Amino acid sequence: MRNVKKQAAGRASSRGLHFNTGNGPAMLPIDIGHPEYMGLIDPDAAFWSLVKKDRLAEALTSGGTFMKQYLRRREDLLAEINALRFGLAPSAVYFNPTDRCNLNCSYCYIPESLRQRGKTMTPERLVEALKILKRYFCRTLPKEARPQIVFHGAEPMIAREAVFAGIEAFAGDFRFGVQTNGTLFDDEAMAFLTSRGIGIGLSLDAHIDRIATRTRSTWGRASVFGKVVAAMEKLRDYPNFNVICTVTRENMRHLNAIVDFFHGLGAPVCMLNPVRCTRQGARDIRPADHQLSRYYLKALERTHELYRETGRKLIVANFANVLVSIVAPAARRLMCDISPCGGGRCFFAVSASGDLFPCSEFVGTKAFRGGNLFTGSIEEALESEAFKRVTGRRVEDIAPCKRCAVRHFCGSPCPAEAHEMNGGMDRPGAFCELYEDQVRYALRLIADGRHDAFLWEGWDKETTTTIDITSL
Ligand code: SF4
Ligand code: SF4
Repeated sequence: MRNVKKQAAGRASSRGLHFNTGNGPAMLPIDIGHPEYMGLIDPDAAFWSLVKKDRLAEALTSGGTFMKQYLRRREDLLAEINALRFGLAPSAVYFNPTDRCNLNCSYCYIPESLRQRGKTMTPERLVEALKILKRYFCRTLPKEARPQIVFHGAEPMIAREAVFAGIEAFAGDFRFGVQTNGTLFDDEAMAFLTSRGIGIGLSLDAHIDRIATRTRSTWGRASVFGKVVAAMEKLRDYPNFNVICTVTRENMRHLNAIVDFFHGLGAPVCMLNPVRCTRQGARDIRPADHQLSRYYLKALERTHELYRETGRKLIVANFANVLVSIVAPAARRLMCDISPCGGGRCFFAVSASGDLFPCSEFVGTKAFRGGNLFTGSIEEALESEAFKRVTGRRVEDIAPCKRCAVRHFCGSPCPAEAHEMNGGMDRPGAFCELYEDQVRYALRLIADGRHDAFLWEGWDKETTTTIDITSL
C-alpha cells in the first residue's frame, strides 16, 4: 500500500486530475449564442473563460496548459467567492419609516391593510431607531465605515418630517438614500435632499401616462405620471439619482421607448426590474421569461446605441450587476444575484414598528420577523430562525440551480418569491430563463469587447485580477 496516500475521511479517492470526473473541478461548456466563442464555466468557483469553438477540446484536455493554469489558481477563486457568499457583515438597512402609502400599485409586496392603516414613525422615534443602528454598526464595522440607510417603501415621504430629522441628526454617521414614488416631492424636499447629496430613487413604469397608470396610481386609480416626470425633470443633472421601472406584461413591449425616455430626462442610472411575484397582484401581470428577455435585451442594446449617439451612458443597474458579477465579483453593488442573497446578511429591513426583517420583500410577512429594534437586539434577530431561513438558502440546495453553470452569477433570486409563489425556500424564484439569457448576453458582450459601455464609470478601479485566462 506504499503508493496510496492517506484518504481524508469521507472524501472520494480521486486525485482530481481531470475536469468533470471524480474530485476534478466541473468545467461546463455553455452556448452563449456567439458565432465564434463558447463559455466555459467552473460553477463552484464562478470561474469563466471564453473559448473559441474549435479549441474547446484542447481547453478540456486533462493536463493541458489551460487546466494547469486554472488548477494553480482555483483555490484563490474559491476563497474569493466564499468570502462574498458567507463572509460579509451587514452594512446597510432598508428603513421603512411608515407602513403607509398614498399609492396602490398593483404589484406592491406590502399587504394592502398595512399600506392603508399601518404605523408612521414620529421624528423622535426615528431618531431613536437610528441611534440604536449607529450603536450596532459601531460594534460590528470598522471605525471608518459609513453604513447606508435607505428610506424605503411603502412611501417614506409620508414620514418626511421624521426622515429629514434623521438625516440632519446623523449626517456624518450614515450614507442616506430615499426610494420614493416621487408624488410628494416638492421643491423644499428636493432642495433638502439634493443639497446633502442624498441618493434619490424614483419609481416610474413607462414613458407615457396610459401605460404607467396601468400599474402605478392612487387608491382612486388616478394618474401620478405627471408628478413623477416633473420630479425627474427637476433632478436632471443630479448625479445621485436613479429611476426604477418595474417590468410587467403591461410595459415590457415598450422598454426601448422607456429607456429613450429615461435617457432623455438625464437619468444616469435606471433599473428594469422584473416584477417580484410575491403577491397575487404581481403574479397576475408577470411576463413570461422568454418574452420579457427578448424586450429586455433589446432595451440593453438601445442603451448602447444611445451611448454611441450621445456619449452619455444610461446604466441599467440590475443588468450591470450581473455583468460585474462575471468580470469583477467583488465589485457587485446589488445583492440579489448572489446566493445566499444579501437579505439578512449584507443588510436587513426595519418596519415602522421597529420590526426586523431580512429584506423589505418580507415586511408584512410575520413568519420572517426576526425581532424588534426597540425591544430586542439586532444580533439576536440576525441569528433568529426567521433570518436563517433566508441567509441559509443556498443555490446548491435548489433544483435545477444545483446543476446550473451560471448559478453564482444568478443566485436563484428571490427567496421571498420562492417562498410565496413556488412553495418553499428550496425552490427557484420567478425568472430563471431571464437570468440564463442575461449571463449569455453578458458573455457575448465580453467576447465582443463591449462590456465596459454597460458598466458605471470606475467599476474596475478597485478590482484585482485573480486569474487571467479569460479567453483561449
Ligand atoms: S433576492 Fe429578494 S430577499 Fe434577497 S435581497 Fe433581493 S429582494 Fe431581498
Ligand atoms: S434560477 Fe435558473 S439561471 Fe438561476 S441558478 Fe437557478 S437554474 Fe440557473
